[in-house]
Amino acid sequence: MNPGTNYQHLLNNLEYLKLKQMMVHLNQVIDFSVQNQLSFVDTLIKLTNYEIDVREQNMIHSMVKVGAFPHLKEVKDFDFDFQPSINQQQIFDFLTLRFIEKNENIVFLGPSGVGKTHLATSIGIHAAKKRTSTYFIKCHDLIQNLKRARLENHLENRLKHYAKYKLLIIDEIGYLPIDQEDAKMFFQLIDMRYEKRSTIFTTNINFKAWDEVFQEPKLANAILDRILHHATVVTMVGNSYRLKDHLAKENE
Ligand code: ADP
Ligand code: MG
Repeated sequence: MNPGTNYQHLLNNLEYLKLKQMMVHLNQVIDFSVQNQLSFVDTLIKLTNYEIDVREQNMIHSMVKVGAFPHLKEVKDFDFDFQPSINQQQIFDFLTLRFIEKNENIVFLGPSGVGKTHLATSIGIHAAKKRTSTYFIKCHDLIQNLKRARLENHLENRLKHYAKYKLLIIDEIGYLPIDQEDAKMFFQLIDMRYEKRSTIFTTNINFKAWDEVFQEPKLANAILDRILHHATVVTMVGNSYRLKDHLAKENE
């Protein structure tokens, strides 16, 4: 038995099996193992952990990329002192992803700039990192995409596509009015996800005024009914964070 040839043989095997991290860290692990008289099992655990760590990181990276988040802000970047209307514990509870297990929704309701998109995104990124298939889309873009699909005769496929995400974030409901045909497609999606999948919504429009957004009261009711049946509504008040420095100057 020639240790030199065996070492090369092992490297070749690792290369053949595409275990790149194990190849890269082989010398280091052998040295550590010899110095600390590690058992065979412990050595192998140490070596395989290098491979697993990198694969996990890559997987997390691609899950977050697939999510199409507008930015990578997380809950730790959120200043709860600036937003006292929020119950911090409630946000931490969302991060346990319990609501996804129960197919429940979250609605962030409040005026512009109070952090609705920030918090919705933070929860989405957290879910994606835990391997939950997650997708972020602005309501207007969602409607445009569904419209295009209808024109191209594959609406059903497109609806199924959006229905399949374990967590869908629909941002900015109500910034732009939605006509009746579009509202019907939106209803179809909400209905497909109802009690099967979780959705996070952000909106600046009080529920009473959704009639005006969806233009047809019956449809608006049917949509709201399904959204709110199993939902936590987080009502946010206060000044826009975007304007906080301007407001501070004015108060000086
Ligand atoms: P909304 O969706 O309610 O209009 P955003 O979530 O887009 O508001 O917030 C506007 C900007 O201010 C974003 O850059 C966001 O990260 C930031 N922001 C809002 N609230 C806070 C906060 N409490 N702490 C830190 N950043 C915040
Ligand atoms: Mg927003």
